Amino acid sequence: MKCPYCGSEDVEAVKSWEMPKMGYRVTHYRCRRCGGLFNHYVGRGREFVLRVGPRRQVSQ
Ligand SMILES: [Zn+2]
Repeated sequence: MKCPYCGSEDVEAVKSWEMPKMGYRVTHYRCRRCGGLFNHYVGRGREFVLRVGPRRQVSQ
């Protein structure tokens, strides 16, 4: 797993849970390098990453 913020592979899985309604399994990761947080969704033959609660949120 790669960090979507800095590209580092030094990430750790914090926790994981199921989303039965959506059919996804979610794993919450934290990057040891930049402290970025992101969720990895897997299910229904596809997977994707969503950034959540970055240490430095650059919005607007
Ligand atoms: Zn990172």
